[in-house]
Amino acid sequence: MSRAARRRVASQTPASRSASESSRRGSSFVCVASEAPVDPGAYVLLVELDAPLRITAGKGREATLAPGRYLYCGSAKGPGGLRARLARHMRRGKRRHWHIDQLTEAGAVHGAWATPHGSECAHVAELAHLPVPLDGFGSSDCPRCRSHLLHWPTGTDIPLEGPSRCEASLATQKC
Ligand SMILES: [Zn+2]
Repeated sequence: MSRAARRRVASQTPASRSASESSRRGSSFVCVASEAPVDPGAYVLLVELDAPLRITAGKGREATLAPGRYLYCGSAKGPGGLRARLARHMRRGKRRHWHIDQLTEAGAVHGAWATPHGSECAHVAELAHLPVPLDGFGSSDCPRCRSHLLHWPTGTDIPLEGPSRCEASLATQKC
């Protein structure tokens, strides 16, 4: 079936929505990886640092992150989908492979918004009002985004469902 034909079929389903609406509706916050779907897709990982952290993004780019909350937008397309990728991010003691491993090994991973079949760059675009701590972080291969890591200052709203639950989790340290 051609892409156009698939779109026509999709547009006939009652649940059909615009791409941005469906991507937002399809995001759910998970505190543990086992709650995440096994579908491929995109995620926004919530990591909190309780101490300053020196990070690098290759090519001599480095920065010191202040303590606080950070959002990392990534995608999971391999076996096990979002669940497997988030399980890796939430596991301590892994061999450092990606830029984000610097944060997940040093800080607390509180959970993630998982978006089956979503796009990490679409999440970065949704979060474009947040400060970029270091150009090129997690986005070496991305032609669109300055960075896939964003700083989430206290009191700043983000357009993802479930931040209130997330704030509650942060307050009680349940995640
Ligand atoms: Zn991107």
